[in-house]
Amino acid sequence: MDTHFTKDPIKAAAYIRGGKLVVFPTETVYGLGANALDEKAVARIYQAKKRPVSNPLIVHLGSPADILRVASRITPTAEKLMETFFPGPLTLILPRHPSLPRIVSGGLDTVAVRMPALPVTRQFLKSARIPVAAPSANISGRPSATTWQSAAEDLKDCVHCILCGPPAAVGLESTVVDCTERLPALLRPGAISIEDLRTAIPEFSSNAPNAFRSPGMHYNHYAPAAKIQIVIHPGEAESGNDKGYIGLDSPASETVFGKCRTPRHIEEYGHCLFEFFRDCDRSGITKIYCQKVAETGLGHALMDRLVRAARSSR
Ligand code: AMP
Ligand code: MG
Repeated sequence: MDTHFTKDPIKAAAYIRGGKLVVFPTETVYGLGANALDEKAVARIYQAKKRPVSNPLIVHLGSPADILRVASRITPTAEKLMETFFPGPLTLILPRHPSLPRIVSGGLDTVAVRMPALPVTRQFLKSARIPVAAPSANISGRPSATTWQSAAEDLKDCVHCILCGPPAAVGLESTVVDCTERLPALLRPGAISIEDLRTAIPEFSSNAPNAFRSPGMHYNHYAPAAKIQIVIHPGEAESGNDKGYIGLDSPASETVFGKCRTPRHIEEYGHCLFEFFRDCDRSGITKIYCQKVAETGLGHALMDRLVRAARSSR
């Protein structure tokens, strides 16, 4: 396929309006989008990603007014969260609008909606004037793409257009909150932390993510070809040219790694994690040691991704 690479959100919007697949940037990770109202276009997302059709997609919107095109109502909990966090890296689960193709929600009677904050994404969605269904722009199971180059590496042969934006600032996916019941439930930890959510809803529970209500939590995820081992101290990592290490603490100077990264803080760790995984794969690293972080703030999402990557890479 002849993929068109562009920096122009208006050009990319024309592709999506024409029923084509478009890779686009967001502040969390890159997305693989199609017109959410076009069943055939959405079906091509699942094919391109090799994603199980029972794992629903997030619908990306240019403005809050668009929510009622895909959801049948906005619940009071959703309204509170939208006031504080829209636009931003938060996805809300709402009752599905009957006219939204079922394939978008993997057959569920709910829908996931999000309004990204990145200016180029907002321009893209506003000029598209349609809701855009999009999962992360990677082959299912692989680490999410946080640069357009990584998205192209996985999907170039199956997408019509790649909107080349900046590397994703956050680098980890959005927080997913189910707002269909009276009390909200966290389905996936992400860029907006539980502590942040409590500023809007003080009774927000920090129970483990509700995997039963979140189909995506059942699948293998985020895994590079290399094996992942989580360590508490860098000293537990075995040295070698085919080994990688990422963590906030620096390893001893005599330890040699094929790839080594010591982010300055947890935000930088989240920002560079998936690209580091991909970089290790490109260099033939066979095992990556990842240092554990405290599970507060963004650490909750980071540990969720590390644990699931380690489980999937076994
Ligand atoms: P991705 O876009 O690849 O980061 O994945 C989207 C995430 O949102 C997955 O974990 C999905 O299971 C979850 N999701 C999307 N729609 C729904 C829904 N209607 N109900 C529950 N979870 C959803
Ligand atoms: Mg994904």
